[in-house]
Amino acid sequence: MNKKQRYLLARIILATVMTIVLQFLNLTGWLQLVLYLVVYIIIGGNILKKAWKGIVNGKIFDENFLMAVATVGAFALAIYEKSGDYLEAIAVMLFYQIGEFFESYAVGKSRKNIAALMDIRPDYANIEKDGRIVRVEPDDVEIGEVIIVQPGEKIPIDGIIESGESSLNTSALTGESLPREVKKGDEVISGSINLSGLLKIKTTKEFGDSTVSKILELVEDASTRKSKSENFIARFARVYTPAVCYGALALAVLPPIFLMIFKGAPFDFATFETWVYRALVFLVISCPCALVISIPLSFFAGIGGASREGILVKGANILETFSKVNTVVFDKTGTLTQGVFEVNAFHDKEDKELNDRKDQLLEYAAIAESSSSHPIGKSLQRAFGKPIDRSRMTALKEISGQGIKALIDGKAVAVGNEKLMRSLGVEPCHCHTAGTIVHVSIDNVYAGHIVLGDVVKPNSKEAVSDLNRTGVTETVMLTGDEDGVAQQTATQLGIKHVYSRLLPRDKVARMEEILGRTKEEGKVAFVGDGINDAPVLTRADVGIAMGAVGSDAAIEAADVVLMDDDPRKIAKGIRISRKCLRIVWENIIMAIGIKGICLILGIFGIVNMWLAIFADVGVMILAVLNAIRAMYVRKI
Ligand code: ADP
Ligand code: MG
Repeated sequence: MNKKQRYLLARIILATVMTIVLQFLNLTGWLQLVLYLVVYIIIGGNILKKAWKGIVNGKIFDENFLMAVATVGAFALAIYEKSGDYLEAIAVMLFYQIGEFFESYAVGKSRKNIAALMDIRPDYANIEKDGRIVRVEPDDVEIGEVIIVQPGEKIPIDGIIESGESSLNTSALTGESLPREVKKGDEVISGSINLSGLLKIKTTKEFGDSTVSKILELVEDASTRKSKSENFIARFARVYTPAVCYGALALAVLPPIFLMIFKGAPFDFATFETWVYRALVFLVISCPCALVISIPLSFFAGIGGASREGILVKGANILETFSKVNTVVFDKTGTLTQGVFEVNAFHDKEDKELNDRKDQLLEYAAIAESSSSHPIGKSLQRAFGKPIDRSRMTALKEISGQGIKALIDGKAVAVGNEKLMRSLGVEPCHCHTAGTIVHVSIDNVYAGHIVLGDVVKPNSKEAVSDLNRTGVTETVMLTGDEDGVAQQTATQLGIKHVYSRLLPRDKVARMEEILGRTKEEGKVAFVGDGINDAPVLTRADVGIAMGAVGSDAAIEAADVVLMDDDPRKIAKGIRISRKCLRIVWENIIMAIGIKGICLILGIFGIVNMWLAIFADVGVMILAVLNAIRAMYVRKI
């Protein structure tokens, strides 16, 4: 509880105690009025002030105004009637404030859950200086510097382990509860907690570009984007509240005038009394707080729940679109497959095993790929294994979706797929081995090809079947790779449609086509690692990027980021968002339904002030409790 909440709670308790005591004192007249007014000011003073501020600022019609008019009206009526029945006015304020307290407590709670994620922000980094460990600002650590992370500490910056072994808790980042074992040479991401051993980590990024900073940025931005349902409520409240106020005014004035003119009722205030009271009841019932509070809270809880699972949703509007996804389009390399290729074979132009020129072929390929961030490029660099002498390369051009052209030792080297070879007028040999084929030509003469093997992620198959079970009707794979591998991967995973040999712009074109085809029924999600597919990510209704292997551009362009690259999280994300949206609509329907019934009963005088209070606070509490459910997801 924060200071504001404690203060409100204290006022609630004080007002309650005083009200109870007043019931036993049997006071009358002025003394009674003054004491009740004191209680009223204690509990409702700030509401009156807010209502007054609203009037001064020209934003008259809000809940504070409704509450102020209703309670001041009830007080005035009691004074006029000399009934001494001030309890109703007090009770309305009291219960309204209890509702407010409850709501702010609930919001604080879910905010804290997100704050638990926020708790990944590291405060310092350790570096070694003259044999001693010194704490420095993470911002001051440069790329390539070695930092030391002791057991129990957070890894502040992304990097590679130089020495040491340990297990890491990555649950705040990925939702994965099992610790991850790491050793020398492994990549580690910031925000994970070092559990057991001492680690020396060579940083590969600056603090500002590290995973932690990126996530925090995302989460902070997420809360500022509004969803359509939220806008709907804001628009709704703008019309609704004034309508209710005028409605109440009409209820107080029109029926009595009607009675006076047509039924010959006496022309005095007594005729108005009943109707003024009913109008006040009407105001209390129609307070829209349940909606105003519970809808943002539901989205907040939904986004919080998703991020606990390692699914970062960049805003309430996205959660809403995500829930309507019925078509999921995948990129292949790095998304469904690991994107870590093994070199399986070297073949010459007759598709026979290459013996003597193997090393040369790999060396040229590795030099050409030395600045590529494509999984194929990285894998070739790794397969080469030796330090690469970049000075031998004098020109370089990476053609996305095709490969690389470079000038090495003065020779024109091309490394890439059949498309690239053909564009150079080189006839590629058609390889009969299964795998991703990288062709190499030197000075426009075919030099041979390297057969790479990629493995599908262990969870990919389950991810596709989870999606089918969740009610996604179409699964599609887009890839720049050749037909054979593409078809094989798709069949293995159970993906229905495959489009292969696509250039990045072909992927966008395919996406447009799919979007056009499915416009009516549902939304289309695209899942990629962002290497060559950031444009498609942006084009899709929901762009989902792989957070760990994904490029920064992709994480930027995406609407949803999967922290641990687990494709099963797509189905889970859809489920979370659906649950959240269901809760939002449940609340809207429940609130409008119950209030509507009470309003009608109120007009006929069947509902009194007490019932009105319970309807209002009750609906709000139910709605808030329901909203909190959005944070919890059942395991499948
Ligand atoms: P995917 O859609 O499977 O992620 P990409 O669009 O990234 O594939 O690449 C498509 C194809 O282009 C690859 O299968 C490969 O044949 C070729 N390619 C792209 N970049 C490179 C590269 N740096 N080196 C060699 N081949 C490449
Ligand atoms: Mg890719």
